[in-house]
Amino acid sequence: MSTPLPPQEPLSLWDASSEEADVSRRFAEDGASVDIAIVGAGFTGLSAALHAAELGLSAHVLEAEKPGFGGSGRNVGLVNAGIWLPPAEVRDKMGETQGAKFLKAFGEAPSRVFDLIEKHQIRCEVTRTGTLHAAHGPSGLRDLQGRHAEWQRMGEPVDLLDRAEMTRLTGTDAFHGGLLDHRAGTINPMGYCRGLARAALAHGAEISTGVTVTGLARKAGQWRVSTDQGTLLARHVILATNAYTDTLWPGLQRSFTPIHFFQLATPPLGPEAAHILPERQGLWDTGRVMMSLRRDAQDRLVIGSMGTVFGDAKRGLSR
Ligand SMILES: Cc1cc2nc3c(=O)[nH]c(=O)nc-3n(C[C@H](O)[C@H](O)[C@H](O)COP(=O)(O)OP(=O)(O)OC[C@H]3O[C@@H](n4cnc5c(N)ncnc54)[C@H](O)[C@@H]3O)c2cc1C
Repeated sequence: MSTPLPPQEPLSLWDASSEEADVSRRFAEDGASVDIAIVGAGFTGLSAALHAAELGLSAHVLEAEKPGFGGSGRNVGLVNAGIWLPPAEVRDKMGETQGAKFLKAFGEAPSRVFDLIEKHQIRCEVTRTGTLHAAHGPSGLRDLQGRHAEWQRMGEPVDLLDRAEMTRLTGTDAFHGGLLDHRAGTINPMGYCRGLARAALAHGAEISTGVTVTGLARKAGQWRVSTDQGTLLARHVILATNAYTDTLWPGLQRSFTPIHFFQLATPPLGPEAAHILPERQGLWDTGRVMMSLRRDAQDRLVIGSMGTVFGDAKRGLSR
């Protein structure tokens, strides 16, 4: 049984504003044996632990920092139904049958997330008014028209909006049009992550934080999972380390190309923000240097874009 760790400095707005508490816990299982060892406590690792525990399997999540330390506690919080690529390109790359299965699975992803939130009563500022994919220019609008035709063909609830409709839904006439995807919504991602952790623990999974997995070796039908604080034996291992992957598994790190993205939040704006995203959709645009915009539950505007920000909020920031 592991014990809670003291709180640390917040790593993001979502960390500071999450209603769900941090469940960081010490590693105290040296030499124990489990069905599944999971490396990384983001959405992937925690969801895997929760689902494994619900099936009656013993699962132990090992996290170098704390739950949500990676992308899961820092992202925009758009619960999108699809991936970056247009549906037609997914079909081209994967073939008609696999592409269709893939798109269906991703199309259902938001309802899976919303079901988990509902089932485990996760407090994560959930909104279900859709997300907006905004056309930054004429080429972006053509891209969105193509995506819309594809989604329509698949019978998905996605609307193509003209400039006037986008102006009403965003508070700016900067966008040439947009897609409103009714399947989607927004969350406080750290809240969701911590809620998954809470639910996984409640179902009997173990989560240890501040413990780095340093080696994986297969011996006599079991994995020996070495960490900087002891070892764990496991029948299966899930690597849920995402872009934070280190040298743990040969070659895996090389499969990632790091791209930086920053977000800035205003103070809570109250009625001043009422005309901006009045229905609280989260927004991302079609620009190559993509930007994002959303409101949080306290009416902060959270603005993001690709790149790295230097400096500090008081003395000035540069990109
Ligand atoms: C700025 C940004 C904005 C994004 N916006 C969105 C969005 O709006 N909507 C959306 O759907 N997706 C978004 N994403 C993507 C989304 O955040 C990720 O796909 C998701 O969080 C990945 O979750 P994960 O659990 O796989 O990995 P992560 O949450 O990154 O977790 C990986 C974890 O592994 C741990 N780890 C790594 N190596 C080890 C080791 N050796 N031992 C122990 N622990 C280890 C790390 O500490 C980390 O906590 C965004 C990503 C970023 C960065």
